[in-house]
Amino acid sequence: MRVLLTGGAGFVGSHLADALIADGHSVIVIDNLSTGSIDNIAHLKGHKNFEYVIDAVENTQLVAELVDRADVIYHMAAAVGVKLIVEEPVRTIETNVHGTEIVLKHAAKKGKLVFVFSTSEVYGKSTAVPFSEDADLVMGATMKHRWAYACSKMLDEFLALAYWKKYGLPVIIVRLFNTVGPRQTGRYGMVIPNFVRQALSGAPITVFGDGKQTRSFTFVGDVVGALVAMKDQKAAIGQVFNIGNAEEVSIMDLAQRVKKVTGSASEIVLIPYDKAYEEGFEDMPRRVPNLAKLTKLIGYAPKVRLDEILKRVVEHERK
Ligand code: UDP
Repeated sequence: MRVLLTGGAGFVGSHLADALIADGHSVIVIDNLSTGSIDNIAHLKGHKNFEYVIDAVENTQLVAELVDRADVIYHMAAAVGVKLIVEEPVRTIETNVHGTEIVLKHAAKKGKLVFVFSTSEVYGKSTAVPFSEDADLVMGATMKHRWAYACSKMLDEFLALAYWKKYGLPVIIVRLFNTVGPRQTGRYGMVIPNFVRQALSGAPITVFGDGKQTRSFTFVGDVVGALVAMKDQKAAIGQVFNIGNAEEVSIMDLAQRVKKVTGSASEIVLIPYDKAYEEGFEDMPRRVPNLAKLTKLIGYAPKVRLDEILKRVVEHERK
């Protein structure tokens, strides 16, 4: 199979490229390196089944050509990370909405299978954990930029489902919960790379808010395994799936675990949300996926637990 990965030089994309190539598929990456990095795919350069183009998904002509050559498209190119979203509100909305529009439009001309990447952020302020794919999505006010990310991804979901309904375009929507592992950068505020770097350098570990908010972290290898398996499932078409790990942890507990795994003497400090992000910032109190739908589809069961994830990230950061 020939597979097109938009955003393929990103953290998840580059791991997906590795897995597809290991399975004998051909991979084409398009990435503008806005948040991705050439280092993530450097080891694939020169591989006979690998090619890449440094360009944006807004390049309509190029996307048309690449979509034409692909059997399956994983559309991951997007502005990601809460910190980036708060700092770059225009870019977030434009990239996330316009890029998806272009990819779907061209895929529809040839009826190519498209994975549209969404996020657990769409569950917003909902407290109905574990979150099921058909649950209500609860957004905050438009004055709070954080929610622009979720809304941009919700619009992507609506558009993908509309293409399926109206033109029969095969689409699969995946909502990724906090995905972590080697190659994830701390530059966009993601908590685990941040904490690990702070702990390793002896800097204070910065817990935002009161640290009682929870997340469930998934190892990138588990996510990629699911993504690869799903492409062969007809029953997944026109559907939305959570991909995650239901092991829930508070951010304070996470800080303590990072301190322990690294053997760090760093102190753990609480930073108010207003200082960490912006005035009036709203966080999600809990975030846990219901994975029943994905388990039914492909027998999904995440293999790597949080303590093991932390060990692997620490090992990677030490290098
Ligand atoms: N967080 C934190 N310290 C940091 C970075 C993040 O306490 O240095 C918190 C953040 O406020 C959120 C959680 O960790 O409650 C996860 O943040 P991240 O940006 O990794 O992902 P999110 O789940 O918010 O998309």
